[in-house]
Amino acid sequence: MNRTERIKLAILDRDGVLNDNSKHYYIYQPAQWTWNPDIFQAMRALRDAGYSLALFTNQGGVSKGLYTLEDVYALHDWMKLSLQEGGIDLLDIMICPHHSAIESCLCRKPQSLLLDRLISKYQADKEKSILIGDSERDILAANQAGITSYLVPSNQSIWNLCTQIAEKERNND
Ligand SMILES: [Mg+2]
Ligand SMILES: [Zn+2]
Repeated sequence: MNRTERIKLAILDRDGVLNDNSKHYYIYQPAQWTWNPDIFQAMRALRDAGYSLALFTNQGGVSKGLYTLEDVYALHDWMKLSLQEGGIDLLDIMICPHHSAIESCLCRKPQSLLLDRLISKYQADKEKSILIGDSERDILAANQAGITSYLVPSNQSIWNLCTQIAEKERNND
C-alpha cells in the first residue's frame, strides 16, 4: 500500500466527547445516553475532511462487575445505528474493560495499546491521524502513540474545533 492510500484516523474518546457524562459516571444503557450538542455535525465535518472515525473508551465498570461487556456492545450497537442514521459510520470502537483497582492490563488509558492496535490494524497514517479527548489520560495515550491530540472541555460542542481541523486538513491536501 503506498503512503497516499493510507487512511487517516480521527479517534474520539466516548464519554464526555460524544455524550454527556455529567449525570452518570458509568454509562451502559441507551436511557443514560445524551448526545453532546452538535456532535453529529462535528463528526460529519471530520468525515468530509477524509478522516475515518473511531472511538476508544475505558469501561472499567465491566471489571468492577457493575455491567457486562455485552451491555457495552448493546449500547454501542444502538449508538452506531443512531450515528448511521446521521450519515456517520464508525470504523471501529476500541474498549478497555479493565479497572486498575481490580486487575492490571496494558490497554487502559493513559496507556496507548488501544491506539497502537487501531493504527496497526488499519495501517493508518500516524502523522495525519488525530485524537480528541476530554481527559488528560486521552492526551497522554495519544502522546505515547505519537499522534496529534486535542483536549476539549467535557460535554460541550466540538463543532468549532472539528471545522478548524477539517479546514486545516483541506489546506494541507
Ligand atoms: Mg472522556
Ligand atoms: Zn485494559
